[in-house]
Amino acid sequence: MKVLVINCGSSSLKYQLIDTDKDTVMAKGLCERIGIDGSNFEYKRDGHDKTQKLVEMKDHKDAVSIVINTLTDKEAGVVGSLDEIDAVGHRVVHGGERFNKAVLINDEVIKAIEDVSDLAPLHNPGALIGIRACMELMPSLPHAAVFDTAFHQTMGPEAYLYAIPREYYEKYKIRRYGFHGTSHAYVSERTAKVLGRDISGLKTVVCHLGNGASISAVKNGKCVDTSMGLTPLEGLIMGTRSGDIDPAVITFLMRKENLTGEQVLDILNKKSGVLGMTGISSDFRDIAKAAAEGNETAEITLEAYARRVAKYIGAYAAAMNGIDAIAFTAGIGENHAGIRKRVCNYLGFLGVELDDDANENGSDERVISSGGSAPAVLVIPTNEELSIALQTLKLIDK
Ligand code: AMP
Repeated sequence: MKVLVINCGSSSLKYQLIDTDKDTVMAKGLCERIGIDGSNFEYKRDGHDKTQKLVEMKDHKDAVSIVINTLTDKEAGVVGSLDEIDAVGHRVVHGGERFNKAVLINDEVIKAIEDVSDLAPLHNPGALIGIRACMELMPSLPHAAVFDTAFHQTMGPEAYLYAIPREYYEKYKIRRYGFHGTSHAYVSERTAKVLGRDISGLKTVVCHLGNGASISAVKNGKCVDTSMGLTPLEGLIMGTRSGDIDPAVITFLMRKENLTGEQVLDILNKKSGVLGMTGISSDFRDIAKAAAEGNETAEITLEAYARRVAKYIGAYAAAMNGIDAIAFTAGIGENHAGIRKRVCNYLGFLGVELDDDANENGSDERVISSGGSAPAVLVIPTNEELSIALQTLKLIDK
């Protein structure tokens, strides 16, 4: 089966055509600067070099047309016609409380995604534009919406309610939602497979450490807690986001620096995290290099980052009454052995013992703890697009 996976922002569109029988990406790419001068189209088909060209894309319909024309092109394409594609899966960031799983898109679903857009004003409107453009240009295909928040909808109120007046939850649905759900779902399933265990009966902590970072507690295959909240700002220290802070910092900064609330939020979202702490970069490779060269601030930042991750793991051990597995994923989780080591250094009290050789060598799914370690520690490369494709296929009766 072949599924076209679309991840659409307000001025960009990422796409992948996935062959789910072979778990392979037939072609993928990116449309950038849609509706802005200098639109760029990127295309890479399996076994060939990436190509890039400037093409005018005045709106998302133009972008989707170029994607379709390229995928079906006689020379450069990977399918003969659209008939060879079985479905389209759309990534949607926020599904609110309404969506606890992926759904086939119809008018009612579009309306419901619109209704929760004020919870994700930077993301959901872009996804809707992409959905409308794709449905118009590929009307004969089934289209599915796959939500970043859906996997976390199994959390109970003891995990998702904030300790603020209840009326704000009732009036505005202010609560913890959690994000990266597709990744947390995929990685927790793979963890069970790699360990040869049934997912029911397994308590896993998934550490999704990328530019955005979140951590979740997954018990019997269901999310019971997660670190991101109403928005993706809460929780771990991230590339440019602060994660947890005392909310009083916001009004303090507003007064001292004569800023608006929105301006402080912008600082917490875009100028904080490891970028703000070091003043060097949001990229861990740069920070690790600076730390190795003796930069003390970079060293403290790496330790603070790892300590925050470890504190959440400790909290989730309490929330689940124990942990069987800890899985690291995403850019930093998959590639940065030093951060994994620093996190695990805090976890001896749980019985964690890292196998340094397995931690430092290898790029695939693997166990990186020693035989006697309880819990097991793993590296599981995430694959959000494949997960979106598989969830999409589950919805169509073929
Ligand atoms: P993601 O958002 O999952 O793409 O992760 C992006 C982040 O992963 C980057 O900002 C880097 O800090 C980090 N990263 C990627 N590759 C490496 C690597 N080889 N070593 C250390 N960090 C890496």
